[in-house]
Amino acid sequence: MPSHKPIPYATQWIDENDIEAVVKILRSDWLTQGPTVEKFEKRVADYCGAKHAVAVCNGTAALHLACLALDLKPGDTLWTSPNTFVASANCALYCGANVNFVDIDPRTYNLSLKKLRQKLEVAARRKKLPKIVIPVHFAGQSCEMAEIFKLSKRYGFRVVEDAAHAVGARYRNRPVGDCRFSDVAIFSFHPVKIITTGEGGMLLTNRRDLYEKFLRLRTHGITREPRFMRGEPHGPWYYQQVELGFNYRITDIHCALGLSQMKRLEKFIHRRRQLARRYDKLLAGLPLTLPWQHPGAESSWHLYVVRLQLDKIQKSHLQVFEELRAAGIGVNLHYIPVHTQPYYRQLGFRPGQFPEAEKFYTEAISLPMFAKLTNAEQDCGVKVLREILV
Ligand SMILES: *Cc1c(COP(=O)(O)O)cnc(C)c1O
Repeated sequence: MPSHKPIPYATQWIDENDIEAVVKILRSDWLTQGPTVEKFEKRVADYCGAKHAVAVCNGTAALHLACLALDLKPGDTLWTSPNTFVASANCALYCGANVNFVDIDPRTYNLSLKKLRQKLEVAARRKKLPKIVIPVHFAGQSCEMAEIFKLSKRYGFRVVEDAAHAVGARYRNRPVGDCRFSDVAIFSFHPVKIITTGEGGMLLTNRRDLYEKFLRLRTHGITREPRFMRGEPHGPWYYQQVELGFNYRITDIHCALGLSQMKRLEKFIHRRRQLARRYDKLLAGLPLTLPWQHPGAESSWHLYVVRLQLDKIQKSHLQVFEELRAAGIGVNLHYIPVHTQPYYRQLGFRPGQFPEAEKFYTEAISLPMFAKLTNAEQDCGVKVLREILV
């Protein structure tokens, strides 16, 4: 049995100001579709330097709406990384489109630029180019967006950044989410992510047309604006459903929490960077491959993932993982390659198709990483890991 309180791999940090902000909404007139949603949207858009932001009920809904607004349909194809949460691929299936994957770069664990180029060349010859590519900023480290953007112009695909891990991250000295190199970027505010709203997500874009689509699709495809209607409005009560949308709304309660958390975003990121640097130092010399950072990227450190150098260790990956959990260190594994999931196998995918992502899966362990993690807790985790490894 562990001699300390179990340490999770990730958890939220809620303070009294957050609680007060939520309670204030509960005492107000608007629980949903009120002014706090827009305030939160504006706050995040300003932070990122994007023109528009639309908040939705979770990150998965944001991915779905991004695909819909970019007109992803049956017969179209979306490419993403196999090293991600299933949502980055499922959004294509929701639209009746096909999914394919681009294997990862063994240094960054993000979708490999080299493999993307090769796959695009082949796809162009076969006239099977993707309509959308979703680069996933794994662990909070941005993909090489400038290069992906260039490829998108050359091959004519749209780019949706899955920035669920990357709130507060930077790329080439600008915030992730500014959409300088993409059509849309999405965030998630699940409690394990950088800031939380309980459940929540956000779409960011610089395109007015997409922004207006997101607003409609978030609420059933309904508009109250005459310029989007067919014919004249009947009166002040009037609305029209002009396309098929969903109820993907978020509440003012959630957004009040998000707004309050935004005040501490810089502090959260600063602490995560500190913890990452501490891990780098404390783990140096162990039979582990530590995270590598691309020169253009400044990670938000959603995750700190180490890879076991199994040829230098007397134990298996599973053993190390189980021993850490048994000692109360709440490690996790990001990610099971999406194409190996039974549902995806049923679509025709096979193990062996994306070997770098599969190899990564056999070696990776996500160590505890969250802003509230103390130095003492981190030291404790490192001590346990060291004892297990040597
Ligand atoms: C969390 C996450 C999502 C989905 O976000 P939810 O808010 O949980 O729906 C999508 N992509 C990645 C990479 C994620 O980590």
